[in-house]
Amino acid sequence: MRRAQRAADRIVKGSEPMSTPPDARKTTPSSAAALVRPLIAALAGYVPGEQPSDPTIVKLNTNENPYPPSARVRAALDDACDRLQLYPDPTARPLRERAAALYGVDADGVLVGNGSDELLALLMRAAVGPGDAVAYPTPTYSLYETLVALQGGISVTPPFDAEWQLPQSLFEARCRVLIVCNPNSPSGTALPASSLEPLVSARRDCIVVIDEAYADFADADALSLIGRYPHVVVLRTLSKSYSLAGLRVGLALTTPDLVAELTKVKDSYNVGRLAQAAALAALEDQAAMHDHVARVRATRARAEGELARLGFVVPPSQANFVLARRPGESLAVLAAGLKGRGILVRYFEALPDALRISIGTDEQIDRLLLVLRDLLAR
Ligand code: PMP
Repeated sequence: MRRAQRAADRIVKGSEPMSTPPDARKTTPSSAAALVRPLIAALAGYVPGEQPSDPTIVKLNTNENPYPPSARVRAALDDACDRLQLYPDPTARPLRERAAALYGVDADGVLVGNGSDELLALLMRAAVGPGDAVAYPTPTYSLYETLVALQGGISVTPPFDAEWQLPQSLFEARCRVLIVCNPNSPSGTALPASSLEPLVSARRDCIVVIDEAYADFADADALSLIGRYPHVVVLRTLSKSYSLAGLRVGLALTTPDLVAELTKVKDSYNVGRLAQAAALAALEDQAAMHDHVARVRATRARAEGELARLGFVVPPSQANFVLARRPGESLAVLAAGLKGRGILVRYFEALPDALRISIGTDEQIDRLLLVLRDLLAR
């Protein structure tokens, strides 16, 4: 338990995005803290990126798609409204079947979640107990650390190497779950399946999660590993490439046996009727998704070039965001300056020389570049 506490302590002390609203930093009143488990009381909790209500803000901080979802989604939502008095299908069968056909997997090997965040939480709940280890290369999606700590687990976090390749120690780490975010956030970099397969093959003693939240923006994916390796789970989301972040739908692609285990720990009706209907419609309109992804990729290439011209080091991105670095400098002031001019990007205290910038429309990126040029000239 002491190790679990240390993990919780790390979260408490851990980095917090600069954009945290001041009231989110208030500590829990001690009387309430005494009512919950000590582990929970000690956690700071995950702080998501800021979601401002002002629609004129250029929002490049949480990797949303700047384009709207398929027009078919609206019609599907309208139809689904007629049956809202009924609980949804607990297993989201039609959506699973559509996803199975799309990704070439068994429908019983698909689990639908309230976002892929929920699927990550279910994986932890099912596989990680107090003192158990979960390994993932860092820096990466910081929710992993929170979810592990919630279980009383221990995060084992070897750093990526300077080229964003897998650390060798990941091949040896003893753990219950191993996570590789690919493409990785916040770097945007991606590992080819040829780098992942040796790891998957070497680590048959744990669940290997490949978090492919951004894979539709990449040149390759790890779908071919599903089924061939029964301990592999590939996570997809409709929040990014399908422009449905507001809906909350994620997909776990794995074996029917593992889905059966994970189903035991999920809420019966974890994904609502509207979400299921809209997600199905979105998956059925591949043309809309591919069109938006192509636009984002084109804007990404332009943004990478322009940011490099402004003196940023930008690792080649395979996602819908880029990591713009000025090695050795702190970019906290720059992030605050952008915010002051109505542009939100993500600044992580753990990565002070970098800004993670979501790829918006061409107009949004032009605005960002204009303001950056101005701020950097001061
Ligand atoms: N994985 C990664 C790497 C992410 O960046 C995100 C989005 N913040 C998620 C998973 C979760 O996506 P969602 O819950 O919206 O499906």
